[in-house]
Amino acid sequence: MQNNIVDIEKEAIESIAQAKSPDQLEKLSIKYLGRKGVLTKFLRDISSLPIEERPGAGKNANILKGKLEAVIKKAFLKLEEDADKGDAGVDVTLPGRPLQMGSLHPITQVAEEICDIFLRLGFDIAESPEVETDYYNFEALNIPKYHPARDMQDTFYVSENIVLRTHTSPSQPRTMEKGKPPIRIISPGKVFRCDSDITHTPMFNQVEGLMVDKNISFGDLKGILTTFIHQFFDKETSLRFRPSFFPFTEPSAEVDIRCVMCKGKGCRICSKTGWLEVLGSGMVHPAVFEKVGYDTDKYTGFAFGMGIERLAMLKFGIDDIRKFYENDIRFLGQF
Ligand SMILES: [Zn+2]
Repeated sequence: MQNNIVDIEKEAIESIAQAKSPDQLEKLSIKYLGRKGVLTKFLRDISSLPIEERPGAGKNANILKGKLEAVIKKAFLKLEEDADKGDAGVDVTLPGRPLQMGSLHPITQVAEEICDIFLRLGFDIAESPEVETDYYNFEALNIPKYHPARDMQDTFYVSENIVLRTHTSPSQPRTMEKGKPPIRIISPGKVFRCDSDITHTPMFNQVEGLMVDKNISFGDLKGILTTFIHQFFDKETSLRFRPSFFPFTEPSAEVDIRCVMCKGKGCRICSKTGWLEVLGSGMVHPAVFEKVGYDTDKYTGFAFGMGIERLAMLKFGIDDIRKFYENDIRFLGQF
């Protein structure tokens, strides 16, 4: 019986020292000190000992009980302390968490690329406000009130004479009012129309271009835009100029390029025509020059405008314009 209690102590102390978690300690506490535990059983069995051994055995068992309680409590505290140290400590040898790199929005990238091409051709950037007066958005561009051309654009009106600009074209009269030719400007920015579907968003981006000087001809327009298309897409891209109508240019032409998806064979993107419309252009209408006080006998010029989203969709092969504005980082990170 004496040996037995020495064995119990040895075994208990060793197990407690090896316990790695509060759970394990709890189990050991129950194993030795619990209602059906080893020590409890030992005390219960004392009555089976010879009468002279009983007091000694009981005393030893009670001493061991107190000792084990103290050791277990101490082991609990040590586990807690170790856990705290783990939280506060920094393991400087661990590899760092990689930082996620951001990227420019595809629309920003395409806008910058378009501007870079025209900057190399000698154009300057001109800025123009997004909240615009009716005068610059329409009247100065030969679109008087009640002109049917106003129906072509679903305008957001802020008040009777203030609009969210429906195109970047107001940068034309605004730039021309500031000085005399020669003028070569490119003007990128947001425009707004009350329209939303797979190819339209209420806000989108355009780039406007304007070149005015003596002896500027339709040949200059074709030369500049052909150079642009060849630099933006590739040298093999063929393009065609198709007669069109804009109130502020005369003559006007829309520019189509050979479908970049099917190379002209005809596909869903180009509606089986093999051609894609990419921009509108034309020679500046004399009425627009008159509004800004330019001598129409002396100066001629051309203007053009293009949608940045449209060019980005064609360049990257994206079929839904709304993807640009859903802020899905998995989409945006691909460019
Ligand atoms: Zn096609």
